[in-house]
Amino acid sequence: MTPSHVDIAIIGGGPVGAALAIALKDSGLAVAVLEAKAEFAARDPRALALSQGTRLILERLATWDLLAAKATPIETIHVSQRGGFGRAVLEAKELAVPALGYTTEYGDLYAALAAGLPDSGAVLITGARVTAVRPASGCGLVEYEQAGLARTLTARLLVLADGGKSLPGEVKVKDYGQSAIICTVRTEAPHNGRAYERFTPAGPMALLPLGDDYALVWTTQADEVETRMQWDDATFIAELQSAFGDRQGRFLTARSRSVFPLRLITSAAADQAGLVRIGNAAQTLHPVAGQGFNLGLRDAWWLAETILDASREQLGDAAFLSQYHKHRRWDVGGGIAMTDILVDVFANDLPMLSQVRGLALTAMDAVSPLKTLFARKMMFGAQA
Ligand SMILES: Cc1cc2nc3c(=O)[nH]c(=O)nc-3n(C[C@H](O)[C@H](O)[C@H](O)COP(=O)(O)OP(=O)(O)OC[C@H]3O[C@@H](n4cnc5c(N)ncnc54)[C@H](O)[C@@H]3O)c2cc1C
Repeated sequence: MTPSHVDIAIIGGGPVGAALAIALKDSGLAVAVLEAKAEFAARDPRALALSQGTRLILERLATWDLLAAKATPIETIHVSQRGGFGRAVLEAKELAVPALGYTTEYGDLYAALAAGLPDSGAVLITGARVTAVRPASGCGLVEYEQAGLARTLTARLLVLADGGKSLPGEVKVKDYGQSAIICTVRTEAPHNGRAYERFTPAGPMALLPLGDDYALVWTTQADEVETRMQWDDATFIAELQSAFGDRQGRFLTARSRSVFPLRLITSAAADQAGLVRIGNAAQTLHPVAGQGFNLGLRDAWWLAETILDASREQLGDAAFLSQYHKHRRWDVGGGIAMTDILVDVFANDLPMLSQVRGLALTAMDAVSPLKTLFARKMMFGAQA
C-alpha cells in the first residue's frame, strides 16, 4: 500500500536521493522515495570521478563494498594547459592517501546505491513522476502521476533530489556556451592509474582511468559540437590527439560518443519552509573539477545529520533549514566558486592569462603545502 502521509518525501531516487534514504535507515522516521523511472537503474554514459571523501561516505552507507570492484583508482592527476608552460602533478603517495579518487560509471554507482534501498526502510514508489510540490510549514504536499493516475502524498519535509530538470523553480543559469562530448578511449600506453586534466582555449578536457580504458570528457564550444559529433572515428581520434598531445602515446579507439550541455544552475531563491533541495536540484555544476556528485552526496549526508538531530516536529521549520544551510554554506559556495573560476580562467586564450595559469600551475607543483591544500579541497570539499 502506498502511504498517503510520511515524515520525509524524497523526490527523485537518483544517486543523491538514494544516498539520503540509506543514510536515514535507522532514523525511525517514515520516509518515501518517489522515482519517475520504473526501477532504480539507469543507462547513463557518464563516468564519474568519486573523491576520497565520497568513498568514506559510501563506506558508512555500506555501499562502497558493492562498488569497489568496478571503480578504478586514480593514483596520479596530471594538470596542464595547451599552448602554455606550467604543469602540476598530484600523487596519492605524496598525499598519503590510498588514491586521489576513483572513476566509476554512473550506472554502477547507481546500482550500488539502489541495492541498499530495500533495506533502508523507505517506501519506494517507482514509476511516480512528481508534477508539483507545495511545501508548507508543518506539512507539505506532493502531486504525482503513477500508471496514468494522479496521486498525492503529504510530508513534513519535502526533499527535492530530482536532478533539477523536472520541476519549475526560480533558478539562476550561467550558460558557458559549451557542451561536453564524452566517450571511452583507449591509448597506446596503459593508464597506470593516471588521470589528466588539460585546459585548452576551447574548454577543459579530462581523461579518467576506467577499467583498461579512459573515460574522456572533452569540453567543446556549443557551436562546434555538431561538427565534432559527426566526425568519423579516425578524424575524431586525430583531432583528439592534436588537442591532447602524446603523453599517453597514440589514441587507438574512441567509442560511444554522447553530448551533455554545460551550465551552472543554482537556486535563485532560499528554500521555502518544508522544502530542501539537494544534489543537482540544488546546484548543477560544470564537470571540469568532477565535483557535482561529490558535492551532492555531501548534501545528502549533512541533511541526514540535520534530520537525525531534529525532532519530528522541527523537520523543515526555519531553525532546521538554517541549521542545514549553515553546515553546507562553505562547502557548496566553495565548490561552485572553484568550478566556475576554473572554467572562466583556464578556458581563455588571452596571452596574459596563459602566463598567470602557467605560474599558478608551476607554483602549485613546487610548493608542497599549496598542493596539499588544493588536493584536500578536491578530495574532501571546500570546508576541508
Ligand atoms: C558530462 C558529465 C560529467 C560529470 N562528471 C562528474 C564527476 O566526474 N564527478 C562528480 O562528482 N560529478 C560529475 N558529474 C555530475 C553528476 O553526474 C551529478 O552531479 C549527479 O548525477 C547528480 O545526481 P542527482 O541524484 O542529484 O541527480 P540525477 O543523477 O539527475 O538523478 C535525479 C533522479 O530524479 C529522478 N527524477 C527526475 N525528475 C523526477 C520527477 N519529476 N519525479 C520523480 N523523479 C524524478 C530521475 O529519474 C533521476 O533518477 C558529471 C556530470 C556530467 C554531465
